[in-house]
Amino acid sequence: MGTAIRVEVWDADADAGRAAITAVMDEMRRIDELMSPYKPASELSRINREAGKQAVKISSEQFDLIVRSLELSKLTHGAFDITFSSVGYLYDYRKRQEPTDAQIAGALPGINYRHLILDRRAGTIRFARQGVRIDLGGIAKGHAVDRGIEILKKRGVKEAIVTAGGDSRVLGDRRGRPWQVGVRDPRDSKGMVAVIPLINAAISTSGDYERYFERNGRRVHHIINPKTGKSSTGVRSVTIIGPDATTTDGMSTSVFVMGVAEGMKLVDSMSGIDAIIIDDLGKMRFSKNLQQITPGDARKPVGASKP
Ligand code: AMP
Ligand code: MG
Repeated sequence: MGTAIRVEVWDADADAGRAAITAVMDEMRRIDELMSPYKPASELSRINREAGKQAVKISSEQFDLIVRSLELSKLTHGAFDITFSSVGYLYDYRKRQEPTDAQIAGALPGINYRHLILDRRAGTIRFARQGVRIDLGGIAKGHAVDRGIEILKKRGVKEAIVTAGGDSRVLGDRRGRPWQVGVRDPRDSKGMVAVIPLINAAISTSGDYERYFERNGRRVHHIINPKTGKSSTGVRSVTIIGPDATTTDGMSTSVFVMGVAEGMKLVDSMSGIDAIIIDDLGKMRFSKNLQQITPGDARKPVGASKP
């Protein structure tokens, strides 16, 4: 996944705890083999090679995550769109490469989630036109974290945290107190702007500092506005708190693209979802529910519910 995985488990039986962690790491690897856009042998790469020509039969897991992505596209009026990759693949942040305006203009018609044709009964995906690519990078880590938590639950683990990059989910509490998850300062890799107490909840942060380079004072980063094919502007980071990591991961990328006004409006309309947005001036904004928690008060955990 090109990202750090962290699993912490509390178990009275140390061997059982260690075995549970190994099972979660194996699951992460399995999902990466299935959904990585960088591995030519992954099912996702096969979709990108073949679905422009014919319907491709895929696993129900990949199918379902694509369906989730399409639901998010509709909810966010296209801010979340896995076909962003039709242009997005032209960026290489490590090599400081970005497409020219002409290249973007040529590839941009490939971005539109409506180009994806899914056949539930046949279990296939097809692209309505050539030049379409998909990438689940905005939601797959959340899915992997949720799968990890499911594995731990099945093994009887009651207290754990699973983190993949900016996406975490906690199971239960940590020795009778909430788990504490920090929200990074987007302009200081060692700094923290908030610490969120969590019980049975998920939290995801999308930031313009994850994969980026700077050119002529411009930050070219990995979250793409599907309308322009360029890095989304107006926000430095978005943190979403919710019931599961697939939701928080998908929503953090979505709200990043939607921006402060539209994004916060959507969050405030959804029950069980909260947000902290840091805008392009560094100002922090909290969704309605979080405003009721006085800053610095870490006693009231967010998302306390039965697993
Ligand atoms: P996250 O850190 O969860 O916000 O995910 C960022 C990743 O989401 C990027 O590296 C891309 O793989 C993917 N992505 C970028 N722009 C979009 C978009 N507009 N819709 C869906 N996924 C995107
Ligand atoms: Mg995301």
